[in-house]
Amino acid sequence: MSGPHSPDELAPEARFALRAAAAGLPIDDAATVMRLDGATARKHLRTAVRALGGSAPPPSEGDAGLLAAAAPLFPAARAAPGRAPSTPCPAPDVATALAAGRLDGPLMLAEMEHTADCPACLARLVAERAQGIPPEAARAAAAPRTIWPAVLVVAVVIAVAAWLALR
Ligand SMILES: [Zn+2]
Repeated sequence: MSGPHSPDELAPEARFALRAAAAGLPIDDAATVMRLDGATARKHLRTAVRALGGSAPPPSEGDAGLLAAAAPLFPAARAAPGRAPSTPCPAPDVATALAAGRLDGPLMLAEMEHTADCPACLARLVAERAQGIPPEAARAAAAPRTIWPAVLVVAVVIAVAAWLALR
C-alpha cells in the first residue's frame, strides 16, 4: 500500500483532511477538529491533492472545485491505511472531545493522526459530527480526567483527619 503516491505518505494534517473529506466530513468540520481556520484546513486538503498528483484549483475556485479535484483520490483515501496507528484507540470521552473540537496541542495532534489512520475512529468521528455534538457532553468530555483521583485523595485525607481527631 505505501508508495510515493499513497495517502499514507502525507503529513498528518493533509492525511486527516483527505481521509476525512473522503469519509464525507465537511471541510469546516475537519477545521474544527484540527482547531484550524477554514482556509488552513483547505490548504491541507489542497496539499494532499497536489502531493498525490492531482491539480488542486486556487482557493478562488471555492470548495466545489477543491472537492472535484480531490474526488478522484477518495477511493485511495478510503482504502485500508497501510500504516497502522501508532497509538491505541482513544477512550470514548477523548474521542468525543476530539470530534467536538475541544482538544488542542499535542493531545489533539496525536488523536487526529490516530483518527486519520484508524477507519473505525474516523467513521465514529464523522458520525458524531453529523449527529451534532451536545455542548454539555462535549464540555464534560473535555474536562480533565485527573479530577477523580484528586477527589479521592481529598476524601482520604479528610477521613484520616477525622479518624485521628476521634482517637
Ligand atoms: Zn482508533
